[in-house]
Amino acid sequence: MAKAPEDIIREEVLALAGYHVPDPAGMVKLDAMENPYRLPEDVRGHIARIVAQAEINRYPDASASRLKERLRATLHIPEGVELILGNGSDEIIQMLILAMARPGATILGLEPSFVMFRLVASFCGMRYVGVPLAADFTLDAERTVETMQEHEPALVFIAYPNNPTGNLFEDAAIERVIAAAPGVVVIDEAYFAFAGRSYMDRLAGCPNLLVMRTLSKSGLAGLRLGLLAGSGEWLRHVDKIRLPYNVSVLTQLVAEEVLQHDALLQEQAAAIKAERARLYRALKETPGTTPFPSDANFILFKTDAAERTFNGLKQRGVLIKNLHGSHAALENCMRVTVGTGAENDCFLAALRQSL
Ligand code: PMP
Repeated sequence: MAKAPEDIIREEVLALAGYHVPDPAGMVKLDAMENPYRLPEDVRGHIARIVAQAEINRYPDASASRLKERLRATLHIPEGVELILGNGSDEIIQMLILAMARPGATILGLEPSFVMFRLVASFCGMRYVGVPLAADFTLDAERTVETMQEHEPALVFIAYPNNPTGNLFEDAAIERVIAAAPGVVVIDEAYFAFAGRSYMDRLAGCPNLLVMRTLSKSGLAGLRLGLLAGSGEWLRHVDKIRLPYNVSVLTQLVAEEVLQHDALLQEQAAAIKAERARLYRALKETPGTTPFPSDANFILFKTDAAERTFNGLKQRGVLIKNLHGSHAALENCMRVTVGTGAENDCFLAALRQSL
């Protein structure tokens, strides 16, 4: 008799809950850190013409060399630094973990942080150790270094700014972690567009440092394009894990085009930062809510009863992220992505009725 899935599927996969993506149909969507602004009509028209010409009957350029050149120029990737592109930075996290998942090897993450580090570690069979952030969400360098000494992690992930707390960590703390790490430290700069701080320029001086970026938060979430920058010593091995055509023809062409309009993306990021400041003030003035300062395109905030508030917002057509129950430090916390002025007003009005 044929075996049941439970007898065949790996135990770590059976144990997973999976990553739930809620249906946003008809909602004001402020749950996923997307850029709320579309590109102007003329740029979209130009993209339409590029897509119409695209040779989608052919496989993509496996090395995406033209797109890489464009990324190097636009993102000011330092000379001598190598690049790997991914179908979103999620895929890069997976490549890194697959490349380093020796039996018994460990990943170290900070808690709370981006859940994908832990999730991918568990489905690739790598041990995950989480180090709690301090109560004010700063990086506890002392404890992180101690934990590294105990567990000797192959890989350390630091989201900078951190998701879902929104803050940048102190350079001194990160420097201590990099100096003491026995393996690789990945600085995940997914929210670089809104923070402007980067470890990219330190790559040359730190052989065990890698920097990850994504275009998702800057207006291209639907394209799926992430990148990993660092020394060829590490990247040439990680690249063997990359499936050959992981970045599609359309992603390569459209990203190449959009990156030529970097000034537009920067203007949008500036508008998001201005709205972030307004939203933060409004949350601060709303009785019953406590927002945390943010260097990203979202704000973490606390209410008296997150479950009730989240459901009230949902009933009023506003979708944000409820983090209550995901981690002890996030009790009664929710995360709202900064939207357009109108979307943020809609959220604030619905919030006041839902507290
Ligand atoms: N890193 C961090 C810190 C994130 O918050 C996210 C998105 N939520 C990602 C990486 C993944 O982004 P993407 O796969 O869209 O590039």
